Amino acid sequence: MANILDGNALAKQIKEQIAEQIARDKLEVSLAVVLVGDDPASRIYVNHKKRDCEQCGITSHEYILPAEATQAQVIELVQALNGDDEVNGVLIQQPFPMGIDVVAVNEAVSAFKDVDGFRAETVGRLAIGAETFKSCTPAGVMELIKSTGVQISGKECVVVGRSNIVGKPMALMLLNESGTVTVCHSRTRDLAEVTRRADILVSAVGVANLITADMVKEGAVVIDVGMNRGGDGKLCGDVEFAAVSAKIGDSGWITPVPGGVGPMTRAMLMSNTLAAFRMQRSSSGVCQGSRALPDDAEGERSSHRV
Ligand code: NDP
Repeated sequence: MANILDGNALAKQIKEQIAEQIARDKLEVSLAVVLVGDDPASRIYVNHKKRDCEQCGITSHEYILPAEATQAQVIELVQALNGDDEVNGVLIQQPFPMGIDVVAVNEAVSAFKDVDGFRAETVGRLAIGAETFKSCTPAGVMELIKSTGVQISGKECVVVGRSNIVGKPMALMLLNESGTVTVCHSRTRDLAEVTRRADILVSAVGVANLITADMVKEGAVVIDVGMNRGGDGKLCGDVEFAAVSAKIGDSGWITPVPGGVGPMTRAMLMSNTLAAFRMQRSSSGVCQGSRALPDDAEGERSSHRV
């Protein structure tokens, strides 16, 4: 059977290292999390992120806007947070309610506080191999791959999915590590023929059981980013876990869902928030001049510090 990549254990290690640095250097690091609307799944994700902050010694500030909030109101809040010296990172939980342009809101986040790594400039810097925040999910996947000891350089890497937040930055990160990268999507003609070539396969699609045993080769590293509900209502990934594990065998590696990529995404958010803090402290003229929150933003601010 394949080796299981335990995302919970690796995320715990990373968060402990972050907590150690923050406690040792007595840093006052903070993350603002903006939630627009009352999507129950988003509420759960935000709660997880607040718990991660507590574990790392990062102060979390939560801002809740009603589902009817306009794009202008969301951007106004983001701009206020950009100018708030007490806030090191700004995260806007997605998806947004209808009528709010994801790109416009992401672009409103300060380049120094873009802990999600979604701004076009941030992705552009990643593309040219410059130092930048790294989008959390692909960054977490890279940590998982590196933890296997398998070298990425020269390997056939296949990414299934080309979204701006997962597939594309994932492909760039693998390319930056000198993988030979192929990106697949819904128009790919023979998906199985491509995925079978993969030494490292990352699936980020959102279709349960898309990747089956006949689509992978023995010894492959299979990373399942997908988060879906199976027929039984349980959380599952894109990969047929049992059959694919059996096929890749003792020399292969695979992530479970849940407990693989999800916790690593959140650990990378914590890591980016600490990096943002350090960047802001070492840059003159950045993030100076606190601004009060707009009176009409209906933002609720609550701090949690451990
Ligand atoms: P998107 O819906 O934005 O992108 C899905 C991608 O999959 C698209 O590029 C699409 O192609 C491609 N696709 C769809 N169907 C097929 C198919 N049959 N064969 C090949 N490619 C296909 O999703 P996201 O990138 O945002 O998320 C992907 C999955 O990862 C979701 O399940 C999401 O919940 C999960 N996720 C998990 C995270 C975690 O932390 N664990 C974080 C973020 C996402 P095309 O472009 O042609 O339409």
